Formats: sequence, structure tokens, C-alpha cells
Amino acid sequence: MSFTENRKGKLIVFEGIDGAGKSTQIQLLKEKLEKLGKHVITSFEPTSGKWGSLLRASGSTGRYSLEEEAELFLKDRREHVDTLIVPALERGDWVLLDRYYISMMAYQGIRGMNIKQIRELNEKFAPVPDVVLWLDIPVKESLNRIGMRGLGVNSFEKEESLRQCRAIFESICEPWMVRIDADAVIDLVVQRIVRSLVEHGILPEE
Ligand code: ADP
Ligand code: MG
Repeated sequence: MSFTENRKGKLIVFEGIDGAGKSTQIQLLKEKLEKLGKHVITSFEPTSGKWGSLLRASGSTGRYSLEEEAELFLKDRREHVDTLIVPALERGDWVLLDRYYISMMAYQGIRGMNIKQIRELNEKFAPVPDVVLWLDIPVKESLNRIGMRGLGVNSFEKEESLRQCRAIFESICEPWMVRIDADAVIDLVVQRIVRSLVEHGILPEE
């Protein structure tokens, strides 16, 4: 599909550093949308397909070089787009994604890959989201939620890379990039998400 022409559904992407609440909020939004009668598909990246599994395993088996890693992400996403995302959008489904190429801009960006180039490579084949809900929490809160606080040198390294990722999310100025203050109790974050979907014309007024 060349992007939007045949898009009958909506592509809603959740982004944010570890512990921001992406998995939690996707589940809650899914339930809310289903109550409104929408057909909802949830998915995540890296996927559990052949390329995505290699990327997931590399967390413990050792990371690939930046070039290899970038290539795997692109292959994984291409497969995801072709087999799941585009068919769902053409059917009119609502697709909720836990991470997408915005994460690639952040995580391969901090490894030194050109952020603009990452975006261009992806947008050649990957549909631009209707909205990206960037769940923003302070880095310290991320470390708390993922239990990294007080783990010495590891947590300092982790803190630094989370800070850099957050800065890349913050640098993306597009109408579809929506910052949600996610440093609040779960129910309040749900309300903020729904309100912003209404404000962006994705959901009707309640
Ligand atoms: P992510 O998918 O972005 O890494 P999760 O949804 O898995 O984040 O949440 C990470 C952890 O933080 C989980 O233990 C979850 O229960 C908890 N959590 C999620 N949202 C909140 C919130 N608003 N306040 C406090 N803890 C939260
Ligand atoms: Mg998660």
C-alpha cells in the first residue's frame, strides 16, 4: 500500500522509554476501543518473526553491529508492514503498535546512525502513523519502574541511554507526534490518552 490511499483503519503507535506504560496502556485502549465497536489489532516491534526474534535474543546474546542491527530492524518491519499492518489498515481495523520506526530513530540514533536517514528509509515502505502517543516519563521514574535503581554502573549507563532516547523523542516535531505526560497513576494516563485522541480527531467527543 502506498501509505494512506487505501487506509480505512487507524494506525496508533505507542512510544516511550522502558517502563513508560506502553504495554499497560495499549491493553486499556484496546478494551476502550472494542467497547466503541472497533475491531482492534495489537502488535509490537521487534516482532516475534524470524528477524525480530534475532533482535530480541541479541539483548542477552550480545548486540549486533549498528549496520547489522539496522538491517534486521528494517527486514523485520518490512515483514510486519506487509503481513500485518497494511492488510489490517486496508480492512479498516485499528492497529495499536508497541514501538515502531520512531523507536529505531531513537535507539539506532543514539548508536550513531543518522536520524533523518532512519526516518527516510522507513517511510519508503512503512505507513506513517495517524498518531504517535509518546508516553513520557522522567528517566528516574523509568529506572524505578524497571527496577534498575541502585544497580551501580549498569544503572548509570542505562540512565544515560534513556536520557538520550528521551531527547530524540522530544526532538520530533510533527503534528502526529503527541506527548502524553505518563508520570501519573494509570487511570489518569488513560484519560489523557483518550482526551488527546479526541483532540486529534481520532475519536469522537465523548
Ligand atoms: P512499557 O511497556 O512501556 O515498558 P509497562 O506497561 O510494561 O511499560 O509498565 C512497566 C511497569 O510499570 C509495569 O510494572 C507496570 O505495571 C508499571 N506501570 C505502568 N504504568 C504505570 C503508572 N502509570 N504508574 C506506575 N506504574 C506503572
Ligand atoms: Mg512493554
